[in-house]
Amino acid sequence: MTRLGGKNALITGAARGIGLAFAKAYVREGARVAIADIDIDRARTAAEEIGPAAIAVEMDVTRQDSIDAAVAATIDTLGSIDVLINNAAIFTAAPIVDITREDYARVFDINVSGALFTLQAVARHMIDRGKGGKIINMASQAGRRGEPLVAVYCASKAAIISLTQSAGLNLIRHGINVNAIAPGVVDGEHWDGVDAFFVKHENKAPGQKKKEVGDAVPFGRMGTADDLTGMAIFLASDESDYIVSQCYNVDGGQWMS
Ligand code: NAD
Repeated sequence: MTRLGGKNALITGAARGIGLAFAKAYVREGARVAIADIDIDRARTAAEEIGPAAIAVEMDVTRQDSIDAAVAATIDTLGSIDVLINNAAIFTAAPIVDITREDYARVFDINVSGALFTLQAVARHMIDRGKGGKIINMASQAGRRGEPLVAVYCASKAAIISLTQSAGLNLIRHGINVNAIAPGVVDGEHWDGVDAFFVKHENKAPGQKKKEVGDAVPFGRMGTADDLTGMAIFLASDESDYIVSQCYNVDGGQWMS
């Protein structure tokens, strides 16, 4: 008995990291998945590794033509989209006085506009189809409180939490649940860039920042992508039908500390 049998999911930014873990977990639960990523080579490798239940789709969430093409390709190949995970995002860090307009615009273009207009394209398909659906936005603890060197990323994730609230209220009348997941610190390639930033700006030794944040998590370690899959499966399943506009912490207790 699987929890996502018969469902088709489009996951953005799924060529690696958390998105890839979600894709694998969804397939284990009976779903078929479209691994959508700007890095199409890596998306293809991931899809081949997962097997026939996965397809790779090229997608740049900053371009409307690319969003539309990726949504159309997924529907053409899989037949429908029942679940969307808005997972693609980039991280950036800088002292406030060093933030550039270009950096700000790029982060918001990918993390916020990308999520909004992908949600819009998939919601139109779900409304036309008339069978509802599930949309999961990847937020972050960074969207719940400030970080001294991470203002732009934090603001982009706060926007995701707000967008989830409004979109959920607007779309539930069509049977479309929009909810979000707010992870804490999650180990993965994403952390290579974060660590390098703190080596440069705070004279940390390589790996030191990562160890410090892991040690500070009440659970006792950083999260892994697999720590998040249970929530992602739940929010895509029929078990979450009555849940609207929520953002769930999956963070080893970070929000409480
Ligand atoms: P990651 O950097 O490992 O992977 C992001 C993926 O997005 C990559 O495959 C990349 O190619 C893709 N991508 C980048 N720009 C794109 C674009 N324009 N169009 C399409 N795809 C694009 O990220 P991750 O650590 O796996 O994080 C996944 C999600 O979880 C993100 O939304 C992130 O903000 C959130 N999150 C991560 C952490 C963490 O500590 N890793 C913590 C909280 C929240």
